[in-house]
Amino acid sequence: MAFSVPKGTKDILPDEVAGWQRAEQAFSGVCAEYGFREIRIPTFEHTEVFTRGVGGSTDVVRKEMYTFEDKGGRSMTLRPEGTAGVVRSFIENGMSSLPAPVRLYYMINAFRYEKMQKGRYREFHQFGVEAFGSQGPDIDAEIISLLVLFFERMGVRETSLCINSIGCPECRSVYYEELRKYFSDKLTDMCADCNERMKQNPMRILDCKESRCKVYTADAPRQLQYLCEGCKEHFEGLKSALNDLGIDYTVDPGIVRGLDYYTRTVFEFVSDHVGTQGTICGGGRYDKLVEMMDGPAVPGVGFAMGVERFLMELQSQGIELQEKRSVKVYIANLSDETLASCRKLAYRLRCGGIGCETDLVSRSFRAQMKYANKAGIPFVAVIGPDEVAGGTFSLKRMSDGATAEFSIDDSIPDINHYISEKN
Ligand SMILES: [Zn+2]
Ligand SMILES: [Zn+2]
Repeated sequence: MAFSVPKGTKDILPDEVAGWQRAEQAFSGVCAEYGFREIRIPTFEHTEVFTRGVGGSTDVVRKEMYTFEDKGGRSMTLRPEGTAGVVRSFIENGMSSLPAPVRLYYMINAFRYEKMQKGRYREFHQFGVEAFGSQGPDIDAEIISLLVLFFERMGVRETSLCINSIGCPECRSVYYEELRKYFSDKLTDMCADCNERMKQNPMRILDCKESRCKVYTADAPRQLQYLCEGCKEHFEGLKSALNDLGIDYTVDPGIVRGLDYYTRTVFEFVSDHVGTQGTICGGGRYDKLVEMMDGPAVPGVGFAMGVERFLMELQSQGIELQEKRSVKVYIANLSDETLASCRKLAYRLRCGGIGCETDLVSRSFRAQMKYANKAGIPFVAVIGPDEVAGGTFSLKRMSDGATAEFSIDDSIPDINHYISEKN
């Protein structure tokens, strides 16, 4: 019986990898230009990192984590997102003593046991950034503009930015009172999850997808109406920074984000493209998270983007990502007598940074040419007995047969120059 991948996982085959690599390069490039440095954190952590760092009332922690006991009897969890692990590392490595803001980015796989649906995987990938030590709102606007630039570099259009403020613990307690009052006589009609949320984090009721709950959430009071002076000022500051940058946005008081740790700024980029509408990327501020995880009082802000979702968007917008092929020369071998010269030339070209392939499966000369053509290799080097005797090789351009002679000893930069000029 042949094996197959576990449900919720997928192979990323060589033909698809071009898009991944392009996105990774563009993302790390943009991050670096904004002063962010990459961090690589473990795939699994002590379960407590996520129950504390993501929040015990979230669906992620309550229903979707891959938690297991290791052979030492410790509870471990495959990371369901990136922020909690980055915060753990920030605290553990004393990064709060570094000059602020400390700017980190990551490109990770993550794991959630989710219901199967199109475009959703149980092992998925995220790009994200976290910035610590700046109250904002300038840095909030900066990471939003980082995303705008990333989308632009990837050629993604038809996205819009929605922003909201969900306040701080002080103004939120006032707001929660209002929410509880509003929902108190409706709870019997609402789902079990919402009844649970009512106790722990009533704001998350606004995120419920059940239609019988949505009936009520539409008219529920919004945090935006209950912001304290500090939060109001912060939100106004964000809007004016975005205005300065010429970044369009809509204030959407309905955005609450699914995780417990957010404060003040929350934002989403949504697609307006027909067929793929929905959230591409979301983020926000988490001023209490580092403290909640037993670290110093350091504010933070960040976002995470699902890579699978993002690539789906590229595809549906018709953005083609061509694989960059590095092999420029196929070295055709004519006989056993020329084999040594072929080998040597291949190694010499590779040492000089010119990608090449040579025959490894004893194909006939004709079959070698056919292979090179099919593989889209732009040049073929031919070394026959005459060339071996004369210490030369000929380089033929596949598109039109134009041929040039080179001495085996010609300098690699000369050969490289010829190839890039004629390619
Ligand atoms: Zn507040
Ligand atoms: Zn509900």
